[in-house]
Formats: sequence, C-alpha cells, structure tokens
Amino acid sequence: MKSSFDVAVTPDSGQTHATNGETKHAHIGHKMERGMPSRKIWFKGSIVPVEQANVSVLSATAQFGLNVFEGIRCYSSESEKRQVFAFRLKEHFARLLDSCKLLGLNSPYTTDDLKEYLIQTIRANDYHEDISVRLTLFVDGESSWSSEGPVGMFIAPVSKPRLDVEAPTTLSACISTWERINDSCFPPRAKTGANYINSRYAHLEAKRNGYDCPIFLGRDGKVAEGGGACLFMVRRGVLTTPNVTSSILEGITRSTVLNLAADVGIQIMERDIDRTELYLAEELFLCGTAAELTPITSLDRVSVGCGQPGPVTMTLLRRYLGVVSNQVGCYSRWLDPIY
Ligand code: PMP
Repeated sequence: MKSSFDVAVTPDSGQTHATNGETKHAHIGHKMERGMPSRKIWFKGSIVPVEQANVSVLSATAQFGLNVFEGIRCYSSESEKRQVFAFRLKEHFARLLDSCKLLGLNSPYTTDDLKEYLIQTIRANDYHEDISVRLTLFVDGESSWSSEGPVGMFIAPVSKPRLDVEAPTTLSACISTWERINDSCFPPRAKTGANYINSRYAHLEAKRNGYDCPIFLGRDGKVAEGGGACLFMVRRGVLTTPNVTSSILEGITRSTVLNLAADVGIQIMERDIDRTELYLAEELFLCGTAAELTPITSLDRVSVGCGQPGPVTMTLLRRYLGVVSNQVGCYSRWLDPIY
C-alpha cells in the first residue's frame, strides 16, 4: 500500500557540470556512456543528466528547505498515439508564483518560460507515458534563511503510472497527534519544502503505529488535510471538504474534484469538518496531483462505510482519469499537449 504522495525526484549526488547562466534555450545534455541513458533534468538553464545537477550544501534550500515547488502530472493520451498532456499547468504556475510572493522570492521566469522549459525537458527525455514532474525554484549559492536569492530552478520529470481504477490503492489512515501548520506560523497555502517537515512528523508517527497515512486536524481541532493531499468525505450523500482557510494547501485536484462532482450532479459542500464526522462518513478519499483520488477504507481502525472504495469516490476517480487523458471534451482547456 502506498502512503507517501510526493514522488522523490530530487537530484542524486554526483559531479556538478551545470552551467549557471539562465539561458532562454536549454542545451541538451549527453547520455551516459554505459548502461541506461540517464534521466535528464532542466537545471539552471541547461538540460543535464540528473547526476550533474547539484546544489551547494551551503545553499538555503539545502540548509533550510527554502524552496517553492510544484508537482505536475502529465498523462498519455487515450486517443492520440504518443501524445502526452500536462494537466492544469496554468493553475500550477499561478500557485508557484503565489508561493514565491509569500516567501519573498523573485521568480526569474515568467509562466511562458516555465511552460517552455517543462515541455523541453519532457521532450528531451522522450517520455510518452504518464509522468510526474517536479518543478522547484530554490535559494541557491551560499545563502541564509533570510536570503532572497540567487534563485535557481530545476525541472525533473519521472515516469509515474496513473492509479489502476480496477484495483485502486486503498489506505488505512489515522488522525495524527501532530497539529497541522497554520497561517500564523507556517502558511500551508505556500508550497515550500520546509512545510513538509510537519507532514513528515505525522507520517512517521502513522507508519510507526501501523497506518498508511495521517490526517491532520488544525489548531481549531477541525479537520485539515493529509500530509501531501487534500481530504474529502461523503456524509449523508454530500461530498464535503474543508474550506481553503482550514490550514490546507489550496489543492488543484481539490478544485478539479469539486468541478467534476458538480458536473455529475453530486451535491458538494466546503465547510468545517469535525473529527467524529470522519468516523461516520460513508466514504473518505485523499486527493492530490500524486494521490489522484485514493480511497481511505479505515480510519483509526474503524471501517469507513463498508471498508471498500465507495461509489462516489470511484465515479469521480473514473471521470478524473478520463479528464486528464483528454477523454472528456469539455475539459481540454485544462490540458497542454507536450508534442
Ligand atoms: N496538500 C498538500 C500538503 C500537498 O502537498 C498536496 C500535493 N501538492 C495537496 C494538498 C494537493 O494539492 P494538488 O492537488 O494541487 O496536488
């Protein structure tokens, strides 16, 4: 069973040959001489083998997690051979720039640059399958937690198949004893690496106690989210999720799910959720770019509904996977073709 929703795509260690200049057009790196060709990543203006993309141990990103990032999924098309679509790029880039603003970082890149470089990097790897892309802006150089720059960037795609809708991964969850970070200390709205230390504490505790994943309550005792995904419950037939002011990341998948549910006539509500409502829910699922829609079948060892993925979750998961691979015409505005 899967319990972590963020794909590890950070650069491996190795020699640094990356250029520092941030050129408009990236140079294509060379393949490794022996064995499998190395995965290529966009790193500070060049496309280089992943082994060559390194940052200083003295950088603020290495020392303090001072970075902002997005995890972006691209899905192979069901109808067009070898075509791949990036999902909701516009929203990912808007959130990235919001995170920059909150963290006091100046992005050297426009959203057009980001799109161009992301496409270049995927093409350089010749990916035609489902992939996940980590795009990170980080404080580089010999920097401190208060430094505003220099700002570097990497874009790292990796192959990642979508959930199997016929046999979806299911999760056993627990309510974490750790509290979710909140807007008066570590705003969850900013997607910065350092926020994930809060997720880590909860994740370690959940695993230690035999669960797949934690669910956080916020400072006010209301339900917030998972460690790397938003939470939905179905209660008395209503699809319900915490408000964006409930100590959550403003999830793009959350917004997608709300749209898709409205389309198929499922009643939706964004409101505070009590912990005990989760035990009484007919269905629970986590949703996120990496998690897609992953059913939670037990909470604190109490079965959710009948302990199987529920009908609302499965209807939405099917529709979601249809939308991301361009099978539902009205959502093609959310898709950017890579080839
Ligand atoms: N909350 C947290 C803490 C996350 O890390 C993520 C994953 N990005 C989400 C929610 C879901 O956000 P999205 O749907 O935009 O991936």
